[in-house]
Amino acid sequence: MEKVLIFGHKSPDTDSICSSMVAEKLAKHYGLDAEAVRLGDLNNETEYILNHLRLEAPRKISEVEEGQKVILVDHNEKDQSVEGRDSAEVIGVIDHHRISAFETVSPLYYIAKPYGCTSTVLYEIFKRENIEIDKVTAQLMLSAIVSDTLLLKSPTCTEKDVEAFNELEKISGLNAKAYGLEMLKAGTDLSMYSADEIINLDAKEFTQNGKKAVIAQVNTADINDVFTRKDEIAFAMEKSISERDLDLYMFLVTDIINTNSKAVVLGNERSAVEKAFGKTIDENDSVFLEGVVSRKKQVLPQILEVL
Ligand code: MG
Ligand code: MG
Ligand code: MG
Repeated sequence: MEKVLIFGHKSPDTDSICSSMVAEKLAKHYGLDAEAVRLGDLNNETEYILNHLRLEAPRKISEVEEGQKVILVDHNEKDQSVEGRDSAEVIGVIDHHRISAFETVSPLYYIAKPYGCTSTVLYEIFKRENIEIDKVTAQLMLSAIVSDTLLLKSPTCTEKDVEAFNELEKISGLNAKAYGLEMLKAGTDLSMYSADEIINLDAKEFTQNGKKAVIAQVNTADINDVFTRKDEIAFAMEKSISERDLDLYMFLVTDIINTNSKAVVLGNERSAVEKAFGKTIDENDSVFLEGVVSRKKQVLPQILEVL
């Protein structure tokens, strides 16, 4: 039987890793020879989760061969996907993002819901199809929901996510609040990373009207902790702008305790950020965004509109 590779986006976050592992179980349930893989290194949060749950990380790949059958989770945009995707065969997508730059040659399963997390979409499939959710699967899904919704605090969090969270907590045997806080905290430790690594931990590239933008994000318990390294971070961003020919680079530092963000904004099109938020970028290339925690809902659409 032909092997099917399942993966999330580049710079994988917890949802991309955990949901690909859960989707592997789902695909196997339907008789596919499926393997979850990843397109990059684990971040600290995901590392904490897999250690805590005593699970192996999926194998890392950098490209796929022509004709390779793949299932995408937690993304669909070409800029965020695997090298070689255009000549691969996408047989399925399970996602919770806008659809952009996506086309296929053959018909496919495409399941997208505007929920807070891919794992909530997966949870719904397991329920609907009456597939048993074992303890490990519940732990993986719960971890993904905690991560993507910042423990249900993000404006992207829906009733469906809360419902899944409560149900999965029971099956998982975890105390979701305590465990969730620990895993989020593990993700805020950036001390071992270089500035180059920090800006790439969770970076997503978008193209709009021929303009290339990267919006990167890190979580922190204290914005100032990250901003003490602002100069080296800005230097790394400038380097990335010239290497990748970017028009805009926005680096969001998100305070998960007080649910605000402060961003470093660089590039020729940085006035787009001023327009989008009606704010002025200060002399430190920074702008404070009150109440903003979700790139997907509170940053990206606003910027795409003015770019
Ligand atoms: Mg993601
Ligand atoms: Mg996600
Ligand atoms: Mg995310």
